[in-house]
Amino acid sequence: MASDNVTHLSFLQIFDDCKSAAGRLRKEYVSERKNRLTRLRKWIHDNRKEIHKALYADFQKPSPEVDATEIFPTLNEIKVALNEMDQWTAPKKVDAPLFMLGTRSYIQFEPKGVCLIIAPWNYPFNLAVGPLVSALAAGNTVVLKPSEQTPHVSALIKKMSTDIFDPDIVSVCEGGVEVSQSLLVLPFDHIFFTGSPAVGKIVMKAAAENLTSVTLELGGKSPAIVTESANIQDAAERIAVGKFINNGQTCIAPDYILVDDKIAGPFVSSLIEKTKLLFSEEGNFETSGSYGRIVNTDHFDRIQGLTWEAISLGAKIELDGKVDKESKFIPPVILTNVPKSSRIMNEEVFGPVLPIITYQHLEEAIEYINKKPKPLALYIFTGQKHVKQKVLIETSSGTVCVNDCSIQFLHHNLPFGGVNNSGIGKSHGHAGFQSFSNEKAVLKQKNGFTSAKIFYPPYTRRSNQLMDWFLKFF
Ligand code: NAD
Repeated sequence: MASDNVTHLSFLQIFDDCKSAAGRLRKEYVSERKNRLTRLRKWIHDNRKEIHKALYADFQKPSPEVDATEIFPTLNEIKVALNEMDQWTAPKKVDAPLFMLGTRSYIQFEPKGVCLIIAPWNYPFNLAVGPLVSALAAGNTVVLKPSEQTPHVSALIKKMSTDIFDPDIVSVCEGGVEVSQSLLVLPFDHIFFTGSPAVGKIVMKAAAENLTSVTLELGGKSPAIVTESANIQDAAERIAVGKFINNGQTCIAPDYILVDDKIAGPFVSSLIEKTKLLFSEEGNFETSGSYGRIVNTDHFDRIQGLTWEAISLGAKIELDGKVDKESKFIPPVILTNVPKSSRIMNEEVFGPVLPIITYQHLEEAIEYINKKPKPLALYIFTGQKHVKQKVLIETSSGTVCVNDCSIQFLHHNLPFGGVNNSGIGKSHGHAGFQSFSNEKAVLKQKNGFTSAKIFYPPYTRRSNQLMDWFLKFF
């Protein structure tokens, strides 16, 4: 109990320090924000090998995959912020309506203040440091809690912050759920959370106590529809990459496939072939340098449980292999004939197991998706514009990618985020900057007579007549 109090007091101290610093940061030039991001960029370049090592230690993530999915997206966020920050922070003039004649108005983007970032383990560097870039670009101070499931990366992020930032500007608090919960009671000016919908609800409830604004980057089941007109080879290759990269532990991985019954056979054959070509070493996934591992044994057991249950209910195994619990190795698993009532069709898979179900008519696939919570990503493979259009109009999801998987995440001009169960608010590039900024509306009135005077009391016959005339325009 005493130690809980000590921890709470130290978090309170960190929060108070960051709060005071946030007041100072409001007054500084944008060039100071750029200096911080430039230091961060240099640190990442200088420590690239350390980042590789930490991710390998945490879940055997291959270095080229670290470069492509952790380092590159983070450096790109920094580059975009450095290039665009002058424009993002400049006041945005807005036109005056006729009844506001004589006024001048603009939107001033101000820092929210002190922000809390809670990160997940699956892209532990990118999903902690990416939001940090947006928060710093918007002029905030930050308390960052990385995931306890990837301790090597968390320790490295802590080192990064002490190497390049004052502790009242960026403070990294390592630890698990208890650290998260102690931080969540504090009256932050914004909370940016990335993780599961279940924990997202806990975060939002805690934020409500202080009426703190939230960005919730959540997960769920992201479907891929493979239609009759799809290019089967391309669809199979792109789905294999989107699904099995990071060992299937990707929030926007295609969670399950809905394939047109007419092309299901050739599609599944091609998917197996492409998966082996991309991720195995002559058919062996365990010795391959291109294939990662599950983050911990809890997730290993959870994924195995989902797979066994589906098989016991009648799912057909199209691809699988020997697993190894000690090294947390699960090879790519592809299942067909998966019962819709199975757990694997109702819980986020978040691992290298891909259930496939077929449909006869596109309406069935759309109906199936619409009966589930709105996904973070939806993938549609088709050669027909009207089919793409139909799916776009008749479904709702945070993001859509047509004829590819997951690359929408990398496009910094697209806002990234979910909808309802898959998230609230957006991140990346300008959208990320906006999430960490207050859009302050500023109106400047002129002296002397103004059009607003027609609303002033005392209310006489003449003012009533003026109002009668005025309202006719609306
Ligand atoms: P998680 O929700 O278990 O944990 C995320 C963070 O919340 C961690 O830092 C953890 O310490 C903290 N946390 C866990 N339980 C908590 C509690 N009870 N109270 C307060 N804090 C708590 O998520 P995860 O397992 O790290 O990541 C996987 C999930 O994240 C998946 O659902 C995935 O789809 C989602 N995700 C979403 C995105 C996105 O950008 N939308 C990106 C990556 C992962």
